[in-house]
Amino acid sequence: MKPVNTTSTLPAKVTIVEVGPRDGLQNEKKLLDTSIKIDFINRLSTCGLPVIECSSMVNPQWIPQLADAEEVIGKIDRHPAVRYPVLVPNEQGMQRALTAGATSVAIFIAASEGFNQKNVNCSIDESFTRFEPVMALAKAAGVEVRGYLSCVMGCPYEGKIKPMKVATIARRLIELGCYEVSLGDTIGVGTPLQAQRLIQAVSKQVPIEQLAIHFHDTRGQALANIFACLELGIATIDASVAGLGGCPYAAGSSGNVATEDVVYMLEGMGVESGIDLRALSETGNMICQQLQRTNHSKVARLYQ
Ligand code: MG
Repeated sequence: MKPVNTTSTLPAKVTIVEVGPRDGLQNEKKLLDTSIKIDFINRLSTCGLPVIECSSMVNPQWIPQLADAEEVIGKIDRHPAVRYPVLVPNEQGMQRALTAGATSVAIFIAASEGFNQKNVNCSIDESFTRFEPVMALAKAAGVEVRGYLSCVMGCPYEGKIKPMKVATIARRLIELGCYEVSLGDTIGVGTPLQAQRLIQAVSKQVPIEQLAIHFHDTRGQALANIFACLELGIATIDASVAGLGGCPYAAGSSGNVATEDVVYMLEGMGVESGIDLRALSETGNMICQQLQRTNHSKVARLYQ
């Protein structure tokens, strides 16, 4: 009989970064009242989530869904055990975030020149130049900065992206002062062995404890990709309650993996996340009602 491989090592505990109120809502068509967003974040805060990305300081002309960022940040009930990062595109956005009282921010860049040009209208090197004053302001204010690196497994304009290229930019983000780099499969093209090869390459340049994964379920691969990375020691996962946020590159398709489905998988494998799955599912169902859309979490549908 052929022997089976019985070694599978998973982390004992995983940190979930909830991105629904920012990455989710920015890609939803329906605009929500500020009070609903505040209620949404307050409810998420009671679910055991350690990190809730709550809004974005991107120009409201580009993302009207999050035009009320200051009010949301100022009015949410901040739980002492929860961090509430805000996305900032540049120095001006960073200043807005600080004025609003943000204590945690995130910057973003793509692993593909073509995507970076389309998204922020500059090269990867120019993005790093723009980050310098952002980092200086963050340092002076004692604010932590997370780095988002997108298109790590493929770009809508350039196709395949080499893992070495991702590794080099991830390392530059850490050298710049980011405490963590979130690797985003922005168009949801990756498959599990590709995800493992990516983590193997990037973890040669950045300690694996400083890496997070941000996978999209556009082609139904997100949970498989997450599991593949857990096996290599990744212990921080970005996810969006109810799978909020469609795929901006394929109308009607799934984007962010649903937090509830990730939590269910972790629970079943004995990996601790600290999250109350029922409370989270009910919160996801509530926000889907407000958005008048279907809940993209398969697990949450069981709690409807
Ligand atoms: Mg996303």
